Amino acid sequence: MKYDIIVLGSGPGGYVAAIRASQLGFKTAIIEKEHLGGICLNWGCIPTKALLKSAQVFDYLKHASDYGITVNGYDKDFNAMIQRSRGVADGMSKGIQFLMKKNKIDVIDGAGKLKPGKKIDVTAADGKVTEYSADHIIIATGARSRELPNLPQDGKKVIGYRQAMNLPTQPKSMIVVGSGAIGVEFAHFYNSIGTEVTIVEFLPNIVPLEDEDVSKQMERSMKKAGLKIMTNSSVERIDTSGSGVKAFVKTAKGEEVLEAEVLLSAVGIKTNIENIGLEACGIATDRDKILVNDFYQTNIPGYYAIGDVVPGPALAHVASAEGITCVEKIAGLHVDKIDYGNIPGCTYASPEIASVGLTEKQAKEKGYELKIGKFPFSASGKAKAAGAPDGFVKVIFDAKYGEWLGCHMIGAGVTDMIAEAVVARKLETTGHEIIKSVHPHPTMSEAIMEAAADAYGEVIHL
Ligand SMILES: Cc1cc2nc3c(=O)[nH]c(=O)nc-3n(C[C@H](O)[C@H](O)[C@H](O)COP(=O)(O)OP(=O)(O)OC[C@H]3O[C@@H](n4cnc5c(N)ncnc54)[C@H](O)[C@@H]3O)c2cc1C
Repeated sequence: MKYDIIVLGSGPGGYVAAIRASQLGFKTAIIEKEHLGGICLNWGCIPTKALLKSAQVFDYLKHASDYGITVNGYDKDFNAMIQRSRGVADGMSKGIQFLMKKNKIDVIDGAGKLKPGKKIDVTAADGKVTEYSADHIIIATGARSRELPNLPQDGKKVIGYRQAMNLPTQPKSMIVVGSGAIGVEFAHFYNSIGTEVTIVEFLPNIVPLEDEDVSKQMERSMKKAGLKIMTNSSVERIDTSGSGVKAFVKTAKGEEVLEAEVLLSAVGIKTNIENIGLEACGIATDRDKILVNDFYQTNIPGYYAIGDVVPGPALAHVASAEGITCVEKIAGLHVDKIDYGNIPGCTYASPEIASVGLTEKQAKEKGYELKIGKFPFSASGKAKAAGAPDGFVKVIFDAKYGEWLGCHMIGAGVTDMIAEAVVARKLETTGHEIIKSVHPHPTMSEAIMEAAADAYGEVIHL
């Protein structure tokens, strides 16, 4: 019952930390009360991408004639889409089970509660409590859908992301409150398969964390696809007494009443930091997050925290990177702190969005003199051949030293292209080095090289 490292929670933060710990020779255990793989594999990144794939295949069928193909008698099967998505998630979770076994990590089923003295009580499903202890305890308990007081979730008419990816029947209409990545991905999925979707966003732009040009393009593309979008609008209250949901929306022009079968609340996350013993151990928190230093140590020696429970972007790849950094530091390796200015963010709707670094507004606010280049996919041979001319690549360089400050892309497949910008920025690559790096033709990635060339007045295909 004594380990070198115990990890509490098995999401992409926890399970990756456990594997790295085992690789480094630590006797490791991981505690999980639900499914191995956490939100990401079971209720987040992976099942949503499976649903979005179904939407894409359906879209291809709808537009098959554009590609010279006649398809007769096709239809969608909502239930089969959901079952496929759940199957993919289950398969991924079993994969983590295999990885735990392969790395000789003990998996402890149950809900863990921290105690002083680097101990944890684990309550199993049958109520039996067992005490474990470790030299180092890593908290990776993640987060859940955030509930607003005026949007209480009943799981049926007013739902969070878990229900949205597991509904028994396809709703005819849906209100999506919040237009971050999660809201926009579900809005796109349901709209693609024929649900009437309205997005309500409090801020002036949808996908509000993105560069304004990207937000505007996304709004145009989503409206073209048939979605209704209300920005500068907030749902003040709801009424679920009838057969569906009525949402009373405050807009610049006054109150508007929307009616739909379901309302998806996608207004962010709430960390799982209650009832895990933080107070008993004296572990400091602030604004719903556990406070940690650059190497994820809390204020109490021997206790660490990573992933969604700590400040920073709530993303799977961030959680994993934090887990690895935390464990390598515990092992005494020379390890650099994570550069939070170089974390890519992606939205997997259609078109996709991918970005890293500063937006144009942020770069201007920081006082940089800028060189900005943009290349539209409508001028890309590959995008035209693929029938995906919507979107662009926008790159932002510092005029003085050529530093690549930001890269913002919207279009088909851009989520697979953003890693180029991440690596280049890590290696302090300048704009001219991007222009002189020969990109393969025809690819969507040429648009990055062309956008860089545009920044320096050297663009070829515009
Ligand atoms: C719909 C949706 C789509 C998303 N899509 C993406 C995406 O495309 N890309 C991306 O990067 N991120 C995405 N995310 C975010 C991503 O899922 C999270 O950032 C990531 O899962 C956080 O990892 P984590 O390890 O911190 O915690 P989690 O994945 O939340 O895992 C925490 C685990 O801890 C367990 N746990 C909690 N308390 C206890 C306890 N007391 N005892 C034992 N176990 C406990 C939970 O059961 C859970 O399994 C998405 C999220 C959602 C909701």
